[in-house]
Amino acid sequence: TFVTFEGGDGAGKSTQIRFLARLLEERGREVVRLREPGGTAVGEALRAVVLDPAHKVMSDRAELLIYEAARAQIVDEVIRPALQRGAVVLCDRFYDSTVAYQGCGRGIDAAFIDAANRFACDGVAPDVTVLLLASGAAVRSRMDRRAGADRLELAGDAFHRRVAEGFDQIALAEPERVKTVESRVHRADTFRAVLKAVSDVLPE
Ligand code: C5P
Repeated sequence: TFVTFEGGDGAGKSTQIRFLARLLEERGREVVRLREPGGTAVGEALRAVVLDPAHKVMSDRAELLIYEAARAQIVDEVIRPALQRGAVVLCDRFYDSTVAYQGCGRGIDAAFIDAANRFACDGVAPDVTVLLLASGAAVRSRMDRRAGADRLELAGDAFHRRVAEGFDQIALAEPERVKTVESRVHRADTFRAVLKAVSDVLPE
């Protein structure tokens, strides 16, 4: 079973993934926890390239291709083998982030993004996607606690608004797969909603 978590920065994705992983492991499932870009040696190297604040001049097309390269690597090296042996794969971001960030945020043609995503994923797709929507207050309290901003977090408000609209469009277009969860101040409350969202593909 393949579950992806999407949403803006500071929505609490990594905490919710940790909670879900612990619960599934208690139930005896093998859980593979990943973040994208990253999750492999090649992917982590590509992540460092794309997030380094020193890389101020990066072409939007170069950025897209780096994300897709990291995705192809994690699909082949980790995700497909894990799914084949019956593990639950929990991934912090996947192709929806590329639709939202590189498509809606940077303005790269949507049809090309879809084709690039299909090429990188090579038939692997999430069974369910949790879109964590963060309220202003919840995000700020989390982001304030975080050290240092990466290259993307330094992007302007207009960019992040377009990204948020992109995620909203994805949820509207694919309500069967993409489940929207409102991020609460108390993460245990958020987790209850996350569990409900994944209950169809991960029954008790
Ligand atoms: O997963 P995380 O929230 O740590 O993402 C790291 C950064 O990469 C974020 O600032 C996010 O905005 C950016 N990102 C992006 N395009 C993607 C995936 C992530 O710009 N496809």
